[in-house]
Amino acid sequence: MNSYFQMLVFVVIGVMLFWFGYNLFFGQGKKGQGSGKDNKNQEDELEGEAGAPRTCPVCSIRLLHGEKVKSSAYPSMGKADRLMSIAGCPYCLEGDRPRICPVCGAVLNYDENLVARLFDKPGRSHVHVLGCSRCRGFLGSHR
Ligand SMILES: [Zn+2]
Ligand SMILES: [Zn+2]
Repeated sequence: MNSYFQMLVFVVIGVMLFWFGYNLFFGQGKKGQGSGKDNKNQEDELEGEAGAPRTCPVCSIRLLHGEKVKSSAYPSMGKADRLMSIAGCPYCLEGDRPRICPVCGAVLNYDENLVARLFDKPGRSHVHVLGCSRCRGFLGSHR
């Protein structure tokens, strides 16, 4: 009778160990799926290919896929970064939204553009807005 009780205890321990190992194995599998997503800080960062940022830097509207900001980049002159001028998105160029410089806060006329520095990186370019033609002066002037 005593040996029968001992066997029962071993079986229970065995089942518990099996269950524990099973959970451990599948718990790790789930953890691996969840990680790997980092929150990117996109404060004044315009993502994607040059000329197709997600947010219009002139009127700060969130653009849908396919809506492009009108901009023109200047030759790089052998440097890693180059200057570009940003006119705006379809909304602020049509006059639906005010065109405001994010640096000095001035309301821009239609012949005034934003001046930005474009960093060419493979697969992803970074645009940093320096100012407008009012607070920044004409394109090409150095800091
Ligand atoms: Zn805009
Ligand atoms: Zn400005």
